[in-house]
Amino acid sequence: MLKGKTALVTGSTSGIGLGIAEKLAAQGANVILNGFGDVTAPRAAVEASGQTHGVKVGFHGADMSKASEIADMMAYAEKDFGGVDILVNNAGIQFVSNVEDFPIEKWDAVIAINLSSAFHTSRLALPGMKAKNWGRIINLASVHGLVGSAGKSAYVAAKHGVIGLTKVTALENAKTGVTCNAICPGWVLTPLVQKQIDDKAAREGITVAEAQVHLLGEKQPSLQFVTPAQLGDLAVFMCSPAGDNIRGVAWNMDGGWVAQ
Ligand code: NAD
Repeated sequence: MLKGKTALVTGSTSGIGLGIAEKLAAQGANVILNGFGDVTAPRAAVEASGQTHGVKVGFHGADMSKASEIADMMAYAEKDFGGVDILVNNAGIQFVSNVEDFPIEKWDAVIAINLSSAFHTSRLALPGMKAKNWGRIINLASVHGLVGSAGKSAYVAAKHGVIGLTKVTALENAKTGVTCNAICPGWVLTPLVQKQIDDKAAREGITVAEAQVHLLGEKQPSLQFVTPAQLGDLAVFMCSPAGDNIRGVAWNMDGGWVAQ
């Protein structure tokens, strides 16, 4: 379905981004990976997913907190892949602290990586998408783009901001073939959440398994983690013809979190 398209997935060396990259490759899209850490295993996984379509997999290690490195990554996409058709703004970090104790540099980093990076990639990808009159921008927000949780001021502010950016980008391009939407996951068991489970176990003097059950029980009625593969399938759906007029939505996949 996506043969001939190129997808750039930020923060795709791990977790949700990697799951989405695999699903897009399985539909035939060429994929540009981005993120920190060793890219060997993520690259092999995405190549294996796209093997039957002979997809091309690239990588750029831009730090998403730095506008100049993001510009380098977009120039690489243009030069080696002919531009970006599907932009998945996924890179993100978490930091937990009350507002009055929140370290200023952590606030700045969360806002830069979780919010401003999506502005920079989008502003650089949009001219090429509009020229082709086809494009998909998918912003990984969160249930925390819709509701708050104590201790997560920067993350919640950034994710609410991502949903605002999503709506405006969708409206500005509503008469074109370029759509922009947000995906809002609940708990997904990735390194980002594993750290919160480990911290909770240490803080409350309980086992990691108990902390996992408590974590789900507090917020996610299904008591099941959402998976990167399920989120990848939602991203594929948004890239399908059925997604042509899905514009500016914040679509939660959260085991019932925000239905409460
Ligand atoms: P993760 O920690 O598994 O992966 C994060 C990815 O971002 C990694 O590839 C990492 O290398 C990359 N990254 C981090 N900082 C970066 C930077 N400065 N520059 C470039 N890459 C950087 O996290 P995840 O859980 O897969 O989260 C992915 C996205 O989904 C994030 O935006 C997160 O806020 C969102 N999300 C996650 C959950 C969850 O429960 N895990 C829920 C809702 C939303």
